Amino acid sequence: MNTSAAIQKVDAIIIGSGFAGMYQLHSLRDKLGLNAKVIERGAGVGGTWYWNRYPGARCDSESHTYMYYFSKELVQEWEWSERYPQQPEILRYLNFVADRLNLRSDIQLNTAMTQAHFNESTNRWLVTTDTGEQYDAQFLITAVGCLSNANVPKIPGISDFKGDWYHTGQWPHEGVDFTGKRVGIIGTGSTGIQAIPVIAAQAKHLTVFQRTANYSLPARHHPLSDEFKEYAKKHSADIYKVMTSNTNGHAFYIDDRSAIETPADVRQKTYEEKWEMGGFQFRASFRDLLTDEAANKTAADFIRQKIRGIVKDPKVGEILSDIDHPFAGKRPPIDDHYFETYNRDNVSLVDLRSAPIEKITAKGIKTTEQEYEVDIIVFATGFDAMTGSLVRLDIVGRNKRTLKDYWSAGPKTNLGLQVPGFPNMFTITGPGSPSVLSNMPPTIEQHVEWISDCISKMKAKGLNCVETSEAASEAWQKEVDRAAQATLLPKVKHSWYLGANVPGKPQVFMPYAGGFAHYRTICDKVASEGYTGFQMS
Ligand code: NAP
Repeated sequence: MNTSAAIQKVDAIIIGSGFAGMYQLHSLRDKLGLNAKVIERGAGVGGTWYWNRYPGARCDSESHTYMYYFSKELVQEWEWSERYPQQPEILRYLNFVADRLNLRSDIQLNTAMTQAHFNESTNRWLVTTDTGEQYDAQFLITAVGCLSNANVPKIPGISDFKGDWYHTGQWPHEGVDFTGKRVGIIGTGSTGIQAIPVIAAQAKHLTVFQRTANYSLPARHHPLSDEFKEYAKKHSADIYKVMTSNTNGHAFYIDDRSAIETPADVRQKTYEEKWEMGGFQFRASFRDLLTDEAANKTAADFIRQKIRGIVKDPKVGEILSDIDHPFAGKRPPIDDHYFETYNRDNVSLVDLRSAPIEKITAKGIKTTEQEYEVDIIVFATGFDAMTGSLVRLDIVGRNKRTLKDYWSAGPKTNLGLQVPGFPNMFTITGPGSPSVLSNMPPTIEQHVEWISDCISKMKAKGLNCVETSEAASEAWQKEVDRAAQATLLPKVKHSWYLGANVPGKPQVFMPYAGGFAHYRTICDKVASEGYTGFQMS
């Protein structure tokens, strides 16, 4: 480690080189002419898609909406091959963008930020890395992703296990060969549900350890036709308009009909059609699915019935369909023959609700009922979401207060973009913004553009500090809470949206549930009215 190097002065340090960090670099460097640098702990660009290489990893957003739209050239030059892109294809796309925009020269790989301290006399950040460099930056911009801090549950006995274990979010680059192996997988969220069919196809035996049964929608993957590829390029402006003018950032609107007011036969037909169509369109079948318990139950019952119809063993079907929360109250996975996988002879299901995991032993996983011998354990146990990847960074703001300390009772931000007491710091898709409740790339683009405009306006006026106020952040947190309470989302007490999946984490509903388009309007209004709630000096 070289600690004697001179401190390098830059306009902005950006942490992370996924979708957010790369566009932020391009915006500051190539549009505003600033000196910006990205620090990336991985050995390559891609963020989430660099780390999440588990079997079956794909995006649940359709490929033609899971890309940058800020550049017509990028839209026209890139071609997706499938309806839902697989992880290697998304990583290729992000590498293509890094090359096409010549970003690599300002991205420092294999480097983790170890500290960022705000200097109140200069209004600048002193950023230190694990490679011994120090940067003196006017702006600190976090682009660390919402789901990047792996959550490996502290189950006793893990160090006794004689086999290999992996967390899906830290998957080995060389892959894992399951051939001839007995595999245990813990977790049936979006990740587990994607991985289970793929691992089952290779392993000698797969035992799935399910704590909470989950809804899942069929994805209906397929290669894209030449006609669709041409359509998506030709109509990219219209597609983008739909994505940015609705609640969810996808290229479809939520149907304005009420599930309750729709006659039962028509409702059933709608669900059947959406089920066949595949993907998140099912969630958009009716306007009241996420706000009215009775409406939600119609969708939930439909899916439960589908599960019981697909799974041949009625006992297994019962465990899989005994779901204790409203449909989409947790982020619903979409899958590729997930429930069908339980009809394979080499797959078994363990219901952890009736017999929880007691410990991990040298030979496998022991529940209160039985020990299951396995050669490999896969933890598909999710992430310390939204705040975990931020508080683990040693960020120290005004009055030497750490972000971790400031957020000890839960995150507090203004618009998910700034934190009071941390001037000149921006948090792309931070807690309090729609982020994970929306398709990520358009929400990232919106944040990057808002931040870049704000910086550009400051520069034009010769100002050097922007800081949100405590009062504005309090008011925004109230709005975040109000928006959540207007939905069924906070009713799910074991959801990562609330931080409930990480023991000891304060339980606060973190993303903004008021919808992407509405949120965007609020952000635009704040900017056009001279950045109300943000002081510039
Ligand atoms: P997750 O949704 O948090 O699911 C974690 C699973 O592990 C749950 O089934 C959970 O059970 C279980 N679990 C956690 N700790 C456990 C323990 N100690 N014992 C037993 N079971 C335990 O995590 P994820 O599946 O990685 O997904 C996280 C988010 O990432 C998704 O919601 C989605 O937003 C995103 N994602 C997106 C994609 C995509 O677009 N393709 C793919 C994967 C993930 P409980 O439910 O009982 O807590």
